[in-house]
Amino acid sequence: MSVYKVKLTEKREVAEGTMAFHFEKPEGFVYKAGQFAECTLINPAETDAEGNTRLFSFASAPYENELMVATRMRDTAFKRVLKAMEPGTEISLNAPHGSFTLHEDMCFPAVFLTGGIGVTPVRSIVLQAMHDDLPHRILVFYSNRGPEDAAFLDELMECQNSNPNYTFIGTMTEMEKSKREWHGETGFIDKAMLLKFMSDLTLPIYYVDGPPAMVKAMRQLLSEAGVEKGNIRTEEFSGY
Ligand SMILES: Cc1cc2nc3c(=O)[nH]c(=O)nc-3n(C[C@H](O)[C@H](O)[C@H](O)COP(=O)(O)OP(=O)(O)OC[C@H]3O[C@@H](n4cnc5c(N)ncnc54)[C@H](O)[C@@H]3O)c2cc1C
Repeated sequence: MSVYKVKLTEKREVAEGTMAFHFEKPEGFVYKAGQFAECTLINPAETDAEGNTRLFSFASAPYENELMVATRMRDTAFKRVLKAMEPGTEISLNAPHGSFTLHEDMCFPAVFLTGGIGVTPVRSIVLQAMHDDLPHRILVFYSNRGPEDAAFLDELMECQNSNPNYTFIGTMTEMEKSKREWHGETGFIDKAMLLKFMSDLTLPIYYVDGPPAMVKAMRQLLSEAGVEKGNIRTEEFSGY
């Protein structure tokens, strides 16, 4: 791992209250899909008790030309500065870190259980797997309140058109408050929902990530379904 200065190239809204930030990829920088970076603001206009550094998973896939992170835009000094940053501004990036990466043995399906902003490393892993034409069976369960809250929803859904080994299951938990149409699953991810798409819940390697409450709930669900601890890999987005 090394420290780089990277320039912002683009910022855009990817869901309600969620923004993606694109940065130039430094020459020779290599990372694996699913890894994260320590991002530090350089001479920010304001700061608070939490400081000028946050950890963000790469939402970009390693084959893409730029780096991208995405975050929920809460009203904190770090995020106010990030939101106001103009293209060309530099931040400091200490990366790559982490081992939330896809296993190599294709005999075991990979099942992602994620929600909200937990989708960031999942986008990276799925897009890279599609790009590399990996033979793994991959299922993504992605939970949000409504489609407007779900970053990268269309992109993750459309990947199904290019690879028959990949299945995307979006689920919405508060459709009564949404103005968008939704024809997929509704309600929280539970055992019945998993069994609709898989016959043997004990076979896959599970990847659970997102806010700590979601990770805790999914761990409990898998443990009650008889999944061995060693087959559950987690990444907690502490700070939510
Ligand atoms: C390995 C890893 C990967 C991560 N990847 C991502 C990622 O891809 N995208 C991402 O967005 N985050 C990611 N995170 C979390 C990220 O590092 C920050 O902690 C998170 O974005 C919160 O930052 P903040 O500036 O909003 O809050 P902070 O200022 O860091 O606030 C920390 C605490 O203050 C409280 N708080 C602050 N503001 C509010 C508010 N408006 N409402 C309620 N409570 C509040 C929270 O309880 C929180 O515990 C990751 C974390 C880890 C450990």
